[in-house]
Amino acid sequence: GDATAMLIKSYACQRRTPLKHHNSFLTEALEILAQNAEYNDNEGRSVAFRRAASVLKALPRRVRSMEDLRCLPCLGDHSQRVIKEILEDGSSREVESTRQSEQYQAMKALTGIFGVGVRTADRWFREGLRSPDDLIRTGQQLNREQQAGVQYYDDLQKPVTKAEADVISDVVEKAVHAVLPGAEIQLMGGFRRGKEVGHDVDFLITHPEEGKEERLMPKITNWLEEQGLLLYQKTTRNSYLEKMDGPARASSNMDRFERCFSIFKLQESAASCKSNCSASAEDVSAAHEHHSEASGWRAVRVDLVVSPYSQFAFATLGWTGSKLFERELRRWAGQEKHMSLSSHALYDNKQNLYLRAKTEEEIFAYLGLEYIPPSERNA
Ligand code: ATP
Ligand code: MN
Ligand code: MN
Repeated sequence: GDATAMLIKSYACQRRTPLKHHNSFLTEALEILAQNAEYNDNEGRSVAFRRAASVLKALPRRVRSMEDLRCLPCLGDHSQRVIKEILEDGSSREVESTRQSEQYQAMKALTGIFGVGVRTADRWFREGLRSPDDLIRTGQQLNREQQAGVQYYDDLQKPVTKAEADVISDVVEKAVHAVLPGAEIQLMGGFRRGKEVGHDVDFLITHPEEGKEERLMPKITNWLEEQGLLLYQKTTRNSYLEKMDGPARASSNMDRFERCFSIFKLQESAASCKSNCSASAEDVSAAHEHHSEASGWRAVRVDLVVSPYSQFAFATLGWTGSKLFERELRRWAGQEKHMSLSSHALYDNKQNLYLRAKTEEEIFAYLGLEYIPPSERNA
């Protein structure tokens, strides 16, 4: 209806976007085109499709005709053509041919490897490589991260469930409290937004006494390593300096916290192992391919981030996502408020000062936005 359509605002951070919505038959199609544009290094086009998809996620009803789209923001000609075709024919030829294309499938398989970005995947694709197996077969030079990515490829392709994320949370909490009592740990990313599955588990760690968090990560990873819980980890030191990184860089996507990209070895519970390990003789070859079902553990990607207490609200906002929601927040801050937002700080370019915040609510208020809770940030 028109009345609701009129209320859809144009920045994703001005809207509530629930996890479950009524238009996945359209948003999945648009997101394939967005993904394909990303594979072709066309960021502008990719963001345009993602914004269009995101608007449809915020609608209170299923779209039934082009009439329903009147007055909606962010729907460009191309997106409208795709939507129209799906509404009329049930599918879009462009989307289906993209989905089937050798390039799309190969890029999806190759960028699906931990440590492989679009640039590397594209170079491999142009050399004729299509899959992780092709990399092994042709003896490609891989860095340590990519080696782990290939080694644990099958496990890392499997979605991480909320139950598994909760087990990992307990492990991380134990590790952090063992090395720094009083530290605070928060589940971030998709699981904080209420997702039931994810591609990884994200955590933010801080301590109320500023300074206590410095160089915390190596202590955490040492503890985890001693327990045999880490299959891979790469820690990067904190490199944030307010004077240098503040106003000028604040809108950059990458933050400078001490962080660790890791792969955990997750023991699967006896119950889940039992149900998966129907160990008959015929299953031996199948068990070979799915080692975790035979061995009782699986690999899980985990991101750990350590933030000073004074930046915790900004870090929380920045690591909750979704990626589009974050992008739109920064765009709103810059274009509408002349402010620079990052996961470290909010800088007011008119008053030339940093705006301090203890909570996410305060940051939304500075930005002149209605507070959107994490479960409604699934833009
Ligand atoms: P998924 O279920 O696929 O993991 P997700 O929303 O948790 O979904 P992530 O890729 O784990 O996706 O990212 C979580 C959040 O962390 C996002 O908001 C993203 O902006 C932020 N983030 C991820 N990587 C970085 C990075 N290198 N620097 C800064 N922020 C990042
Ligand atoms: Mn995540
Ligand atoms: Mn992550």
